[in-house]
Amino acid sequence: MGGTAAGLVGPQRVARNLDPSPTLESNRTCRTCGKTKPLDYRHYNQIPNGGFRWSCKRCRAANTREYHRRNPEKAQERTKRYNARKAAAGGSYTAADIRKIRTRLGDRCGYCGDPLHGGGEVEHMLPVLRGGTSNPDNLTLACRTCNGDKGSKTVEGFIAYLRKHGRPVRSDLWGGTTKP
Ligand SMILES: [Zn+2]
Ligand SMILES: [Zn+2]
Repeated sequence: MGGTAAGLVGPQRVARNLDPSPTLESNRTCRTCGKTKPLDYRHYNQIPNGGFRWSCKRCRAANTREYHRRNPEKAQERTKRYNARKAAAGGSYTAADIRKIRTRLGDRCGYCGDPLHGGGEVEHMLPVLRGGTSNPDNLTLACRTCNGDKGSKTVEGFIAYLRKHGRPVRSDLWGGTTKP
């Protein structure tokens, strides 16, 4: 790799800093900022064994931002790659398309059902990095938490991920029951 600024670890390194075992604590003190926060998916990223990361979401996002700030060429490459894939996949949408999607979703996240209050993020159901287009039929609106956690997962993969972690899933769209 090379080019990593002293004292900072890249996103890949942070990703390996895993909680070794599922835990029953209800709060956790973030190892980075030292703040005690509820130990749930809104504050800490979950890992496959059901545990949570040691540092809170906010700190991890700040670490990634800082890493990209200090390694601008990596951030630029990433954006360039993403935009190239997006252009190659094609498709487009208008504000009217997004309004229609919002109405269909009842202004709630297309995955977990959290109210969007007119906000939310436009989400490619089949990710751009998997060849998903930007046509309205491949788009939904998602809350920030879902959009951030979905990453390059397929919809099926993400719904399975939410269920596995006992997180809410919209039963009107994805079947099953909505567990709060
Ligand atoms: Zn923190
Ligand atoms: Zn959501």
